[in-house]
Amino acid sequence: MPERQTIIEPFKIKVVEPLPQLTRAERARELEAAGWNLFLVPARRVTFDFLTDSGTTAMSAAQWAAMMIADESYAGSRSFEALEATVRRVTGFRYIIPTHQGRAAEHLLFSMLVRPGSIVPSNNHFDTTRANIEQLGGEAVDLVCAEARDARSAAPFKGNLDVERLDELCRRERDRIPLGMITITNNAGGGQPVSLANLRAVAEVYRRYDIPFIIDACRFAENAWFIKRREPENAKRAVRAIAREVFDLADGCMMSGKKDGMVNIGGFIALRSDAWVPRLRSGLILTEGFPTYGGMAARDMEAFAVGIDEALEEPYLAYREAVAAYVASGLERIGMPVMQPPGAHAVYLDAGALLPDVPPASYPGQALVASLYLIAGVRGCEVGSVMFGKHLAGTFVPAARELVRLAFPRRVYTQAHMDYVIEATAEVVAGRGDLRGMRIVEEPPFLRHFTAKFAPL
Ligand SMILES: *Cc1c(COP(=O)(O)O)cnc(C)c1O
Repeated sequence: MPERQTIIEPFKIKVVEPLPQLTRAERARELEAAGWNLFLVPARRVTFDFLTDSGTTAMSAAQWAAMMIADESYAGSRSFEALEATVRRVTGFRYIIPTHQGRAAEHLLFSMLVRPGSIVPSNNHFDTTRANIEQLGGEAVDLVCAEARDARSAAPFKGNLDVERLDELCRRERDRIPLGMITITNNAGGGQPVSLANLRAVAEVYRRYDIPFIIDACRFAENAWFIKRREPENAKRAVRAIAREVFDLADGCMMSGKKDGMVNIGGFIALRSDAWVPRLRSGLILTEGFPTYGGMAARDMEAFAVGIDEALEEPYLAYREAVAAYVASGLERIGMPVMQPPGAHAVYLDAGALLPDVPPASYPGQALVASLYLIAGVRGCEVGSVMFGKHLAGTFVPAARELVRLAFPRRVYTQAHMDYVIEATAEVVAGRGDLRGMRIVEEPPFLRHFTAKFAPL
């Protein structure tokens, strides 16, 4: 194909699904019924579902075809061999422990390694990763670099881990650190990538202190793509070669197939050495299943095996980056403040900057989420004081930032959909003066963002 400016969707559509289209009055009724909590709105009443990129992928014809020839044998399934062969080829790790999704892999590995008082460093731990460490009495320590804190900075690798602080922590606390991690891309930090230079430096620190290095590899393909795009010395390398070099730096990885596995469910632990394998397999049998399927049906393993290779195709990755960049620049153009630079899987809107007169205690992010749904039919996710704010001894402690995440399902929406979203969001921006914030009328004791009920102020 000749070089052109326009980055096209690198697929044709074979199977389609109707897009729910509602009137504004219908959406107003849905909001009312759901207590202004978008988690409580049925998906069939959402036009553009940007709640998460996790497990929402549209599968390819090749994946569906592979599912049809799956071998559902309990033991020694050929479909496990297919997944194992792909993971070995892509990562170089020899031992593959299949799980039903990423958090099951975390639970299995941490149950073996983490004790009360353990410390597990990373750039930023994803929330299930942190919860699994803390539930075992360990401490999940975030050591993301300083640039990550500046929402407007366009630094290319805001997912990097602060190597100096890592070194200092390892020196001081070596005996309390059963494993060291890094998340690529850094989901909790806005989907920001980690550079190859930083990955090498992190691996060197872990090696020097003899700490096993395990990568949270959920978006390893997107991270490898950003290394190619943003780290000049890697510009001419194949994404596969970059991804392989990243894995070569580590002792193993955990992965949720619901991200760059391009499947709706699935996960694994992959390891270079067999030292932990017998104990992990015993745990696996107890909680997930036999070692040749873990928590997956064979058809899921087949689709996963094909999906890992599809996620590494460069036209796909170029399109994936382009979607987020296009939406981010389109939204900035109509006056919506967006965190920079955009990653690949999501765009983060800065509700605090859009609604400066709405204090964190009135949840500007939740007000924006509701307005995006009402006006544009978009379901986003508040990542601010509803999710992270706390009441400590009677005082409200807000989150560090009031954000709204629009995460993009893989291969699901087209550029026309995104154009509509940008156009409709202009109306949200124009009407921002009417948004006064939200109050919580009902909340559960834990993880309130899933089920709390709100009312507009
Ligand atoms: C999604 C995710 C997980 C957990 O995976 P699940 O399949 O949702 O259990 C872990 N780490 C990161 C970075 C993720 O994005």
